[in-house]
Order: sequence, then structure tokens, then C-alpha cells
Amino acid sequence: MIPSTAVPVEIERCEGFLRVGWSTEHESLYPYRQLRASCSCASCVHEWTGQKLIHPEQVPNDIHPSAIEAVGRYAISIHWSDGHNTGIYPFDYLKGLCPCTSCTEARASNRHL
Ligand SMILES: [Zn+2]
Ligand SMILES: [Zn+2]
Repeated sequence: MIPSTAVPVEIERCEGFLRVGWSTEHESLYPYRQLRASCSCASCVHEWTGQKLIHPEQVPNDIHPSAIEAVGRYAISIHWSDGHNTGIYPFDYLKGLCPCTSCTEARASNRHL
């Protein structure tokens, strides 16, 4: 069960990872390349078809956020070292990307319902 009301209380840039501490006391570690490849902006995902226009293999190995900003109370925006800065990651979406085992299993079982 993933609460949809989770908000980040802590965002920290680590070596190769973004660490997000959630208000639900959950902690997520996002590899930068995964996060960059998961960008849902109009230039990374086709607006109408939902087709991904960015492929993980196109993401530079040394990708990292050059700046992270809060967008209102619902999202963060990440400026990437490859110059991409239109990406907005709503909290719900970000939480849904959490690669940890319990979130991955929760998402898998939700899909079966
Ligand atoms: Zn994007
Ligand atoms: Zn998780």
C-alpha cells in the first residue's frame, strides 16, 4: 500500500543517487540515470501517445542534478547536468518510481488487481 499523500521531508544528493526521505518515514534511493530516464515532460514522453522519447541508454553515465527546486507543494523540478531542465516530478509520481523492494512489490500486486 503506497499512501498517495507522501511528501518529501528530506532531499539529499548523494554519489550517483538522490535520497528522498518521505513524510511516511519511507526512504527512497533513486539512481540518477533512472530518474533522468523517467522524466515525464513533453520532450521526454510524447504528449498524446505516452511513448517514451528518452531511452535509458541515451542518458550519460555521469548524469546528475545541477539544481533541484520545489514546485509549489506538489512537485520538484530537477535541472540535469545534460542541460535538460523541463522535468517536473510530482511527489506521487516520484514515490511511484521508488526502486526499493517493498514499493516494487506493492506496485506489482496493484497491477494484478
Ligand atoms: Zn524531460
Ligand atoms: Zn520504496
